[in-house]
Amino acid sequence: MNALRREIERIIASEGPIGIDRYMALALGHPVHGYYVTRDPLGAAGDFTTAPEISQMFGELLGLWAATVWDMMGRPFPFVLAELGPGRGTLMADALRAAGRVPGFLEAADINLVEISPALRQSQQAKLAGHEVSWRGRFEELPPGPLLLLANEFLDALPIRQFVRGGGGWHERVVGLSPEGGLAFGLAPHAAPDLAAVPGRDGDLLETSPASLALADIMARRLAAMGGAALLVDYGAAGSDLGDTFQALRRHGFADPLAEPGEADLTAHVRFGALARAASRAGAAVHGPMTQGAFLLALGIRERAAVLSRGRDEATRAAVASALARLTAPEAMGDLFKAMALADPRLGPLPGLPPP
Ligand code: SAH
Repeated sequence: MNALRREIERIIASEGPIGIDRYMALALGHPVHGYYVTRDPLGAAGDFTTAPEISQMFGELLGLWAATVWDMMGRPFPFVLAELGPGRGTLMADALRAAGRVPGFLEAADINLVEISPALRQSQQAKLAGHEVSWRGRFEELPPGPLLLLANEFLDALPIRQFVRGGGGWHERVVGLSPEGGLAFGLAPHAAPDLAAVPGRDGDLLETSPASLALADIMARRLAAMGGAALLVDYGAAGSDLGDTFQALRRHGFADPLAEPGEADLTAHVRFGALARAASRAGAAVHGPMTQGAFLLALGIRERAAVLSRGRDEATRAAVASALARLTAPEAMGDLFKAMALADPRLGPLPGLPPP
Protein backbone atom coordinates (compact mmCIF):
# COMPACT_ATOMS: atom_id res chain seq x y z
CA MET A 1 0.00 0.00 0.00
CA ASN A 2 1.40 3.40 -0.87
CA ALA A 3 2.48 6.04 1.64
CA LEU A 4 0.00 8.67 0.44
CA ARG A 5 -2.92 6.27 0.82
CA ARG A 6 -1.83 5.58 4.41
CA GLU A 7 -1.66 9.32 5.05
CA ILE A 8 -5.13 9.92 3.56
CA GLU A 9 -6.54 7.02 5.61
CA ARG A 10 -5.08 8.60 8.76
CA ILE A 11 -6.68 11.97 7.90
CA ILE A 12 -10.08 10.31 7.38
CA ALA A 13 -9.75 8.23 10.55
CA SER A 14 -9.21 11.36 12.62
CA GLU A 15 -11.36 13.94 10.78
CA GLY A 16 -14.04 11.88 9.03
CA PRO A 17 -14.69 11.46 5.28
CA ILE A 18 -13.19 14.15 3.02
CA GLY A 19 -14.56 15.85 -0.11
CA ILE A 20 -13.33 14.74 -3.54
CA ASP A 21 -11.73 18.18 -3.82
CA ARG A 22 -9.46 17.53 -0.85
CA TYR A 23 -8.71 14.00 -2.05
CA MET A 24 -7.80 15.29 -5.52
CA ALA A 25 -5.61 18.09 -4.14
CA LEU A 26 -3.70 15.58 -1.98
CA ALA A 27 -3.34 12.94 -4.72
CA LEU A 28 -2.12 15.45 -7.32
CA GLY A 29 -0.35 18.10 -5.27
CA HIS A 30 0.87 16.56 -2.00
CA PRO A 31 4.29 18.18 -1.46
CA VAL A 32 6.11 14.80 -1.18
CA HIS A 33 3.91 12.10 -2.77
CA GLY A 34 1.66 14.09 -5.14
CA TYR A 35 1.26 12.81 -8.68
CA TYR A 36 2.50 16.01 -10.35
CA VAL A 37 5.22 16.55 -7.76
CA THR A 38 6.93 13.20 -8.29
CA ARG A 39 7.02 12.68 -12.05
CA ASP A 40 6.73 13.80 -15.65
CA PRO A 41 3.40 12.14 -16.55
CA LEU A 42 3.40 12.99 -20.26
CA GLY A 43 4.20 11.05 -23.39
CA ALA A 44 4.31 7.44 -24.53
CA ALA A 45 6.19 6.25 -21.42
CA GLY A 46 3.89 8.21 -19.09
CA ASP A 47 0.16 8.18 -18.45
CA PHE A 48 -1.30 10.50 -21.10
CA THR A 49 -0.45 12.56 -24.19
CA THR A 50 -1.58 16.12 -24.88
CA ALA A 51 -2.12 18.23 -27.99
CA PRO A 52 1.25 20.06 -27.92
CA GLU A 53 3.01 16.68 -27.56
CA ILE A 54 1.12 15.36 -30.58
CA SER A 55 2.24 18.12 -32.95
CA GLN A 56 4.17 21.40 -33.10
CA MET A 57 1.19 22.82 -35.03
CA PHE A 58 -0.85 23.20 -31.84
CA GLY A 59 1.62 25.48 -30.03
CA GLU A 60 2.45 27.38 -33.21
CA LEU A 61 -1.19 28.28 -33.85
CA LEU A 62 -1.74 29.29 -30.22
CA GLY A 63 1.39 31.44 -30.39
CA LEU A 64 0.12 33.20 -33.52
CA TRP A 65 -3.25 33.64 -31.79
CA ALA A 66 -1.45 35.41 -28.93
CA ALA A 67 0.60 37.59 -31.28
CA THR A 68 -2.54 38.62 -33.19
CA VAL A 69 -4.36 39.54 -29.98
CA TRP A 70 -1.26 41.45 -28.81
CA ASP A 71 -1.46 43.48 -32.00
CA MET A 72 -5.20 44.11 -31.42
CA MET A 73 -4.36 45.32 -27.90
CA GLY A 74 -2.15 48.05 -29.39
CA ARG A 75 1.13 46.14 -28.94
CA PRO A 76 1.67 46.87 -25.23
CA PHE A 77 5.34 46.95 -24.13
CA PRO A 78 5.91 45.17 -21.84
CA PHE A 79 3.10 42.65 -21.34
CA VAL A 80 2.81 39.44 -19.33
CA LEU A 81 2.82 36.27 -21.44
CA ALA A 82 1.73 33.44 -19.14
CA GLU A 83 0.96 29.77 -19.33
CA LEU A 84 -0.84 27.73 -16.70
CA GLY A 85 0.42 24.14 -16.29
CA PRO A 86 2.98 24.20 -19.13
CA GLY A 87 3.84 20.47 -18.94
CA ARG A 88 7.13 19.89 -20.75
CA GLY A 89 7.25 23.46 -22.09
CA THR A 90 6.50 22.24 -25.60
CA LEU A 91 3.48 24.46 -26.20
CA MET A 92 5.33 27.60 -25.07
CA ALA A 93 8.45 26.73 -27.11
CA ASP A 94 6.38 26.21 -30.28
CA ALA A 95 4.31 29.33 -29.54
CA LEU A 96 7.40 31.52 -29.08
CA ARG A 97 9.01 30.25 -32.27
CA ALA A 98 5.89 31.09 -34.29
CA ALA A 99 5.01 34.36 -32.53
CA GLY A 100 8.64 35.46 -32.73
CA ARG A 101 8.04 36.14 -36.42
CA VAL A 102 5.80 39.05 -35.42
CA PRO A 103 8.26 41.95 -34.93
CA GLY A 104 8.42 43.27 -31.37
CA PHE A 105 6.42 40.45 -29.72
CA LEU A 106 9.29 38.58 -28.06
CA GLU A 107 10.96 41.79 -26.89
CA ALA A 108 7.72 42.88 -25.20
CA ALA A 109 6.86 39.51 -23.64
CA ASP A 110 7.59 38.96 -19.94
CA ILE A 111 7.29 35.15 -19.92
CA ASN A 112 5.77 33.57 -16.80
CA LEU A 113 5.02 29.89 -16.22
CA VAL A 114 2.61 28.83 -13.49
CA GLU A 115 3.67 25.32 -12.46
CA ILE A 116 3.59 23.28 -9.24
CA SER A 117 5.73 20.37 -10.39
CA PRO A 118 9.49 20.62 -9.77
CA ALA A 119 10.08 17.82 -12.30
CA LEU A 120 8.15 19.62 -15.02
CA ARG A 121 9.78 22.99 -14.19
CA GLN A 122 13.07 21.34 -15.11
CA SER A 123 11.76 20.11 -18.46
CA GLN A 124 10.35 23.58 -19.14
CA GLN A 125 13.67 25.21 -18.34
CA ALA A 126 15.49 22.89 -20.74
CA LYS A 127 12.90 23.33 -23.51
CA LEU A 128 12.90 27.13 -23.17
CA ALA A 129 16.66 27.65 -22.86
CA GLY A 130 17.47 30.91 -24.62
CA HIS A 131 14.36 32.67 -23.27
CA GLU A 132 14.17 34.55 -20.02
CA VAL A 133 11.42 32.86 -18.00
CA SER A 134 9.98 33.28 -14.49
CA TRP A 135 8.16 30.51 -12.61
CA ARG A 136 5.17 31.10 -10.34
CA GLY A 137 3.24 28.82 -8.01
CA ARG A 138 -0.19 30.30 -8.77
CA PHE A 139 -2.04 32.69 -11.07
CA GLU A 140 -2.26 35.30 -8.32
CA GLU A 141 1.56 35.61 -8.32
CA LEU A 142 1.78 36.88 -11.92
CA PRO A 143 3.18 40.42 -12.21
CA PRO A 144 0.62 43.15 -13.00
CA GLY A 145 -0.01 44.56 -16.49
CA PRO A 146 -1.69 43.56 -19.74
CA LEU A 147 -1.89 39.77 -19.93
CA LEU A 148 -1.96 37.11 -22.62
CA LEU A 149 -2.48 33.69 -21.11
CA LEU A 150 -2.56 30.18 -22.53
CA ALA A 151 -3.71 27.05 -20.69
CA ASN A 152 -4.07 23.60 -22.22
CA GLU A 153 -5.31 20.72 -20.06
CA PHE A 154 -4.80 22.74 -16.88
CA LEU A 155 -8.36 23.23 -15.60
CA ASP A 156 -9.14 19.49 -15.73
CA ALA A 157 -6.57 18.96 -12.96
CA LEU A 158 -8.21 21.39 -10.54
CA PRO A 159 -10.15 19.81 -7.66
CA ILE A 160 -13.87 19.13 -8.02
CA ARG A 161 -16.75 18.45 -5.64
CA GLN A 162 -19.68 16.16 -6.36
CA PHE A 163 -23.20 16.16 -4.93
CA VAL A 164 -25.90 13.50 -5.34
CA ARG A 165 -29.59 14.40 -5.23
CA GLY A 166 -31.73 12.55 -2.70
CA GLY A 167 -34.49 13.26 -0.20
CA GLY A 168 -35.02 16.78 -1.57
CA GLY A 169 -31.39 17.91 -1.13
CA TRP A 170 -27.86 17.56 -2.49
CA HIS A 171 -25.52 15.30 -0.51
CA GLU A 172 -21.80 15.65 -1.03
CA ARG A 173 -20.02 12.59 -2.40
CA VAL A 174 -17.09 11.96 -0.09
CA VAL A 175 -14.10 9.65 0.30
CA GLY A 176 -14.16 7.55 3.45
CA LEU A 177 -12.83 4.26 4.80
CA SER A 178 -14.30 1.04 3.50
CA PRO A 179 -15.24 -1.64 6.09
CA GLU A 180 -13.07 -4.08 4.09
CA GLY A 181 -10.08 -1.71 4.37
CA GLY A 182 -9.00 0.91 1.84
CA LEU A 183 -10.83 3.96 0.53
CA ALA A 184 -14.43 4.06 -0.64
CA PHE A 185 -16.93 6.62 -1.88
CA GLY A 186 -19.82 7.55 0.37
CA LEU A 187 -22.41 10.30 0.78
CA ALA A 188 -22.56 12.98 3.44
CA PRO A 189 -25.61 12.35 5.66
CA HIS A 190 -26.72 15.99 5.64
CA ALA A 191 -27.70 17.92 2.51
CA ALA A 192 -25.45 20.85 1.51
CA PRO A 193 -27.26 24.01 2.68
CA ASP A 194 -25.77 26.31 0.01
CA LEU A 195 -27.21 24.10 -2.77
CA ALA A 196 -30.73 23.96 -1.30
CA ALA A 197 -32.14 26.13 -4.10
CA VAL A 198 -30.57 24.11 -6.95
CA PRO A 199 -33.30 21.94 -8.56
CA GLY A 200 -32.70 18.29 -9.44
CA ARG A 201 -34.15 14.81 -9.64
CA ASP A 202 -33.31 11.95 -7.28
CA GLY A 203 -30.08 10.32 -8.37
CA ASP A 204 -28.75 13.35 -10.30
CA LEU A 205 -25.05 13.99 -9.78
CA LEU A 206 -23.88 17.59 -9.78
CA GLU A 207 -20.21 18.33 -10.34
CA THR A 208 -18.60 21.67 -9.55
CA SER A 209 -15.04 22.91 -9.37
CA PRO A 210 -14.90 25.79 -6.88
CA ALA A 211 -11.18 26.20 -7.60
CA SER A 212 -11.83 26.63 -11.35
CA LEU A 213 -14.69 29.06 -10.73
CA ALA A 214 -12.52 31.12 -8.37
CA LEU A 215 -9.78 31.19 -11.01
CA ALA A 216 -12.25 32.30 -13.72
CA ASP A 217 -13.44 35.07 -11.40
CA ILE A 218 -10.00 36.44 -10.55
CA MET A 219 -8.79 36.10 -14.13
CA ALA A 220 -11.85 37.95 -15.44
CA ARG A 221 -11.40 40.82 -12.95
CA ARG A 222 -7.77 41.18 -13.88
CA LEU A 223 -8.41 41.12 -17.65
CA ALA A 224 -11.18 43.73 -17.34
CA ALA A 225 -8.94 45.97 -15.22
CA MET A 226 -5.52 45.55 -16.87
CA GLY A 227 -6.38 44.32 -20.37
CA GLY A 228 -5.63 41.16 -22.30
CA ALA A 229 -7.10 37.74 -22.96
CA ALA A 230 -6.83 34.16 -21.70
CA LEU A 231 -7.24 31.16 -23.99
CA LEU A 232 -8.42 28.03 -22.20
CA VAL A 233 -8.37 24.67 -24.02
CA ASP A 234 -9.55 21.50 -22.33
CA TYR A 235 -11.95 18.58 -22.58
CA GLY A 236 -15.48 18.95 -21.37
CA ALA A 237 -19.00 19.87 -22.28
CA ALA A 238 -20.23 23.34 -23.13
CA GLY A 239 -23.57 22.79 -21.34
CA SER A 240 -24.86 20.96 -18.26
CA ASP A 241 -23.07 20.44 -14.91
CA LEU A 242 -24.66 17.02 -14.36
CA GLY A 243 -22.92 13.65 -14.56
CA ASP A 244 -19.88 12.00 -12.99
CA THR A 245 -16.71 12.75 -14.97
CA PHE A 246 -14.17 12.14 -12.20
CA GLN A 247 -11.56 9.82 -13.69
CA ALA A 248 -8.11 8.37 -13.19
CA LEU A 249 -5.67 7.78 -16.04
CA ARG A 250 -2.66 5.52 -15.78
CA ARG A 251 -0.50 4.23 -18.63
CA HIS A 252 -2.97 5.60 -21.20
CA GLY A 253 -5.93 3.69 -19.70
CA PHE A 254 -8.65 4.32 -17.13
CA ALA A 255 -7.93 3.30 -13.53
CA ASP A 256 -9.74 3.29 -10.16
CA PRO A 257 -9.36 6.86 -8.80
CA LEU A 258 -9.19 5.66 -5.17
CA ALA A 259 -6.83 2.68 -5.64
CA GLU A 260 -3.40 4.31 -5.54
CA PRO A 261 -3.48 8.04 -4.85
CA GLY A 262 -0.46 9.79 -6.31
CA GLU A 263 0.13 7.05 -8.92
CA ALA A 264 -2.58 8.02 -11.42
CA ASP A 265 -3.62 11.31 -12.99
CA LEU A 266 -6.96 12.45 -11.59
CA THR A 267 -9.11 14.74 -13.69
CA ALA A 268 -12.67 15.82 -14.39
CA HIS A 269 -14.27 17.31 -17.46
CA VAL A 270 -14.27 21.10 -17.53
CA ARG A 271 -17.70 22.71 -17.18
CA PHE A 272 -17.26 25.53 -19.68
CA GLY A 273 -20.77 26.90 -19.15
CA ALA A 274 -20.22 27.43 -15.43
CA LEU A 275 -16.79 28.99 -16.08
CA ALA A 276 -18.27 31.34 -18.67
CA ARG A 277 -20.99 32.48 -16.25
CA ALA A 278 -18.44 33.12 -13.48
CA ALA A 279 -16.17 35.07 -15.83
CA SER A 280 -18.88 37.24 -17.31
CA ARG A 281 -20.28 38.01 -13.84
CA ALA A 282 -16.77 39.22 -12.98
CA GLY A 283 -16.63 41.57 -15.98
CA ALA A 284 -14.86 39.66 -18.77
CA ALA A 285 -16.13 39.09 -22.30
CA VAL A 286 -16.43 35.36 -23.01
CA HIS A 287 -15.57 34.16 -26.53
CA GLY A 288 -16.80 30.62 -27.24
CA PRO A 289 -16.58 27.87 -26.17
CA MET A 290 -16.25 26.15 -29.51
CA THR A 291 -14.82 22.78 -30.44
CA GLN A 292 -11.05 22.45 -30.67
CA GLY A 293 -11.41 21.04 -34.18
CA ALA A 294 -13.32 24.05 -35.51
CA PHE A 295 -11.02 26.45 -33.64
CA LEU A 296 -7.79 24.98 -35.05
CA LEU A 297 -9.25 24.79 -38.56
CA ALA A 298 -10.27 28.46 -38.31
CA LEU A 299 -6.72 29.34 -37.25
CA GLY A 300 -5.34 27.57 -40.33
CA ILE A 301 -4.08 24.20 -39.11
CA ARG A 302 -4.80 22.57 -42.49
CA GLU A 303 -2.65 25.18 -44.26
CA ARG A 304 0.13 24.74 -41.69
CA ALA A 305 -0.02 20.94 -42.18
CA ALA A 306 0.33 21.44 -45.93
CA VAL A 307 3.46 23.57 -45.43
CA LEU A 308 4.99 21.00 -43.05
CA SER A 309 4.32 18.22 -45.59
CA ARG A 310 5.48 19.97 -48.75
CA GLY A 311 8.47 18.24 -50.35
CA ARG A 312 8.86 15.86 -47.38
CA ASP A 313 9.14 12.07 -47.43
CA GLU A 314 6.19 9.72 -47.18
CA ALA A 315 6.66 8.97 -43.45
CA THR A 316 6.72 12.67 -42.49
CA ARG A 317 3.64 13.41 -44.57
CA ALA A 318 1.79 10.52 -42.94
CA ALA A 319 2.81 11.72 -39.45
CA VAL A 320 1.58 15.27 -40.17
CA ALA A 321 -1.72 13.96 -41.56
CA SER A 322 -2.22 11.72 -38.56
CA ALA A 323 -1.52 14.58 -36.10
CA LEU A 324 -3.94 16.84 -37.99
CA ALA A 325 -6.64 14.16 -37.71
CA ARG A 326 -6.00 13.49 -34.00
CA LEU A 327 -6.26 17.20 -33.15
CA THR A 328 -9.28 18.04 -35.30
CA ALA A 329 -11.37 14.94 -36.16
CA PRO A 330 -14.66 14.79 -34.21
CA GLU A 331 -14.08 11.18 -33.16
CA ALA A 332 -10.56 12.02 -31.90
CA MET A 333 -9.90 15.25 -29.92
CA GLY A 334 -11.77 17.58 -32.25
CA ASP A 335 -15.18 17.60 -30.56
CA LEU A 336 -14.52 16.61 -26.94
CA PHE A 337 -11.97 19.40 -26.48
CA LYS A 338 -13.18 22.99 -26.42
CA ALA A 339 -11.49 26.36 -26.74
CA MET A 340 -12.81 29.40 -24.88
CA ALA A 341 -11.30 32.81 -24.26
CA LEU A 342 -11.92 35.27 -21.44
CA ALA A 343 -11.03 38.80 -22.49
CA ASP A 344 -11.06 42.46 -21.74
CA PRO A 345 -14.49 43.58 -23.07
CA ARG A 346 -12.78 46.45 -24.92
CA LEU A 347 -11.19 43.93 -27.32
CA GLY A 348 -13.09 43.06 -30.48
CA PRO A 349 -13.70 39.55 -31.86
CA LEU A 350 -10.73 37.26 -31.27
CA PRO A 351 -9.10 35.07 -33.95
CA GLY A 352 -10.84 31.74 -34.54
CA LEU A 353 -13.54 32.23 -31.87
CA PRO A 354 -17.16 33.35 -32.12
CA PRO A 355 -17.73 36.89 -30.76
CA PRO A 356 -19.18 37.21 -27.21
N1 SAH B 1 -0.28 22.03 -20.71
C1 SAH B 1 0.56 20.85 -20.82
C2 SAH B 1 0.49 19.93 -19.59
C3 SAH B 1 -0.86 19.46 -19.15
S1 SAH B 1 -0.76 18.45 -17.69
C4 SAH B 1 0.27 20.10 -22.08
O1 SAH B 1 -0.72 20.42 -22.71
O2 SAH B 1 1.04 19.21 -22.44
C5 SAH B 1 -1.20 19.59 -16.40
C6 SAH B 1 -0.13 20.58 -16.06
O3 SAH B 1 -0.62 21.43 -15.00
C7 SAH B 1 1.18 20.01 -15.55
O4 SAH B 1 2.22 20.85 -15.97
C8 SAH B 1 0.98 20.09 -14.03
O5 SAH B 1 2.16 19.97 -13.31
C9 SAH B 1 0.30 21.42 -13.91
N2 SAH B 1 -0.51 21.61 -12.71
C10 SAH B 1 -1.48 20.80 -12.23
N3 SAH B 1 -2.08 21.34 -11.15
C11 SAH B 1 -1.50 22.55 -10.96
C12 SAH B 1 -1.70 23.62 -10.02
N4 SAH B 1 -2.61 23.52 -9.07
N5 SAH B 1 -0.93 24.71 -10.12
C13 SAH B 1 0.00 24.82 -11.11
N6 SAH B 1 0.23 23.86 -12.02
C14 SAH B 1 -0.49 22.73 -11.95
